[in-house]
Amino acid sequence: MKKIGIIGGMSYESSIHYYERINDGVNKKLGGLTCAEMLIYNVNFGPIRQKMLKSDWEGIKGSLIPVAKILENSGVDGIAIATNTIHKVADDIEKEISIPLIHIADCVSKKCIKDKKKKIGLLGTKYTMEEDFLKNRLKKNGLEIVIPKNKEEIEEINRIIFDELCKGEIKESSQKYYKDCINHMIKEDNIEGVILGCTEIEMLIKPEDIDIPVYDTTQAHIDSIVDFITEERD
Ligand code: GLU
Repeated sequence: MKKIGIIGGMSYESSIHYYERINDGVNKKLGGLTCAEMLIYNVNFGPIRQKMLKSDWEGIKGSLIPVAKILENSGVDGIAIATNTIHKVADDIEKEISIPLIHIADCVSKKCIKDKKKKIGLLGTKYTMEEDFLKNRLKKNGLEIVIPKNKEEIEEINRIIFDELCKGEIKESSQKYYKDCINHMIKEDNIEGVILGCTEIEMLIKPEDIDIPVYDTTQAHIDSIVDFITEERD
């Protein structure tokens, strides 16, 4: 069994699900009292968020590359960053380590492609929706990506993530807001599925709330991590 290193804490509300479901997934595959050998480096999200607000991505890299190296030096076989937004610096982190980085966009792309869904809506932080770092990776994997057209929707989706979901607050009004945004994309853009491209959105939106398939990046990432852990070493 391989060991995984998780860069977590962004937010800790979603990292909890990684810890629980990676162990569950490994146990379901291997049985008995088996669970995952896993190191989680839980970063302090406060200063990282402040850097994000100042667009100080160099500073974020400077904080997270040493974390990836600590995990690598502790003997893990691979690394996963438990947030979509921070994948903005995933390539820079990957260059500094010699073990695989399990990229969240590849994990969710696999699920869409398996279902033969191509035109997909994407919800996430405004960085994830507006910038290219995640969208380009999804497109490279064969998907056509649609984001909400309305700037106000992008700002409100982003606000709900940082002001509510990252603090574990689930509000009915926010759930309705997200559903409406997804329904706009279904109506106006004919999307065939929707990617929950932020690791906290699954706390708000469940597949049964939406009329088209829902692709949750948290679960897709976890499923690939479980496969990685349970694969034989080369
Ligand atoms: N966890 C979120 C994501 O998947 C947002 C918080 C963050 O910026 O890391 O994008």
